Amino acid sequence: MSDYVVLDPRFQALIVPHAKLEKLWTGARWGEGPVYVPAAKHLLWSDIPNDRVMRYDETSGAVSVFEHPCGYQNGHALDGQGRVVACEHGGRRISRLDHDGEWRTLADRFGGKRLNSPNDVVVKSDGSIWFTDPTYGIDSHYEGHKAPSELGVSNVYRIDGATGDITAVITDMVKPNGLAFSADEKLLFVGDTGATHVDMKRIMKVYDVSADGLSVANGRFFAESDAGFFDGFRTTTEDILWTSTADSVRAYLFDGTLIGKILIPEFVSNLTFGGRKRNRLYITAQTSLYAIYLARGAWG
Ligand code: MG
Repeated sequence: MSDYVVLDPRFQALIVPHAKLEKLWTGARWGEGPVYVPAAKHLLWSDIPNDRVMRYDETSGAVSVFEHPCGYQNGHALDGQGRVVACEHGGRRISRLDHDGEWRTLADRFGGKRLNSPNDVVVKSDGSIWFTDPTYGIDSHYEGHKAPSELGVSNVYRIDGATGDITAVITDMVKPNGLAFSADEKLLFVGDTGATHVDMKRIMKVYDVSADGLSVANGRFFAESDAGFFDGFRTTTEDILWTSTADSVRAYLFDGTLIGKILIPEFVSNLTFGGRKRNRLYITAQTSLYAIYLARGAWG
């Protein structure tokens, strides 16, 4: 039995047809925010309602609690120095795990007002940190602490890597969620999951990154999901975008063509590439962590 739905022959080159989806672990309330840490040979991801970060040891297969409590962390990324950067729903901040083992605040306010609940984060090669700030962590007590939004808007922000200054780079989305740069960092993809709050389509947009890398422009429609949300996604050096949806992990070309799916038996929240060759796709989905080897991964 196949775990794949091939919609375009170009998808066939990305997969190993006989590779099976592996269920590595189950027991989360809602798993999200995976980051692969190459030097530690482990994957970290969030179990948000349980206020904990989990660790999958790629060598032994063991799973353990990495951090608890953790400020209801959600999305994670690795910076250029191999430090983990986290979005905290509960802490309402972007934090970084420094090499001495301390979590330090990188941003918790914009214009003097508290952030809503940072959701997902990426680090650009220039050291800047880009993150989304919807309200899911303050809408209820389930994924953080219920509170009113001080900002009243859900933006995408950029933290300057040198100065720490924070700027709003996208202000026209309802609930920006997952985000990812193309490998050449000329494009920024951002999912809008605003359908949780207003009547709108479940879409992903794409923006052009300015030449100086400080801003984005020309936001336009990239894709629409017919099954749940584009919550989290990653791109490859071959310009493939792999994204979460409710029923599957889906692969898109950069022209917006959906070329195939890997069926997942739970709601998919996010994914990331791991393994020494970055050809193993780790998938966080509702209560479980899954993985599957691909023929062409993050590095082709
Ligand atoms: Mg998310």
